[in-house]
Amino acid sequence: MNHSLQEYLVDLIPARNELCSHMEEYAKENHVPIMDRIGMEALLQILRIHKPGAILEIGCAIGYSAIRMSDALPDAKIVTIERNGERIKDARSFIGSAGKEAAITLLEGDALELAGEAGKHGPFDAIFIDAAKGQYERFFGLYEPFLSPNGIIISDNVLYKEMVVAPMESISNRRTRALVKKIRHYNQWLMDHPDYDTAILPIGDGMAISKKKEKQ
Ligand code: SAH
Ligand code: MG
Repeated sequence: MNHSLQEYLVDLIPARNELCSHMEEYAKENHVPIMDRIGMEALLQILRIHKPGAILEIGCAIGYSAIRMSDALPDAKIVTIERNGERIKDARSFIGSAGKEAAITLLEGDALELAGEAGKHGPFDAIFIDAAKGQYERFFGLYEPFLSPNGIIISDNVLYKEMVVAPMESISNRRTRALVKKIRHYNQWLMDHPDYDTAILPIGDGMAISKKKEKQ
């Protein structure tokens, strides 16, 4: 999105509460890739319309998006997964400060190994995938069985700083190139998925919204 348009939209967003503003600062200082402001607002609005009773988040980081989701939907039960020890510590502390221990359950470990445990808290009306970008197809496959019949799956960062359209030779880092290829593959796979309707919204860093097709 055009930079000044982006600034304009960010300026229009109402102030967050003190804790969330503090978390935004903290994330910036410590290079934690929390959702950007515009993407966050869009996600919250989708969730307000969808009204999920149970949400699963893959990729908690320091708990920013989990706390924002819980503030927007105080009755929702949120399960969130994180594998990084430092971030787990921060997330627990922020979730405590927000008084959200009852609403937000943090599962510690690799999401590739926690489907069984997370599934016990399901089914989920919304699944938010925001962890390792190269593993999205696997996360989708592992957690999709725990989606409720009317559920939605939201995948974040699917346009990856617009690198999905960059000529491959312009990306000098080999690992970044491999990641971009994987994300492009995921987007195509998702759009072609026979059981889901998906729309990719060019908001924030790109958000794919997938809705399970109703059985005929
Ligand atoms: N949703 C958060 C940001 C998540 S950043 C917010 O907007 O506030 C992505 C997080 O996913 C990182 O903290 C990273 O450690 C975690 N992650 C990446 N791969 C993972 C995996 N396989 N299992 C669990 N966590 C993972
Ligand atoms: Mg993200």
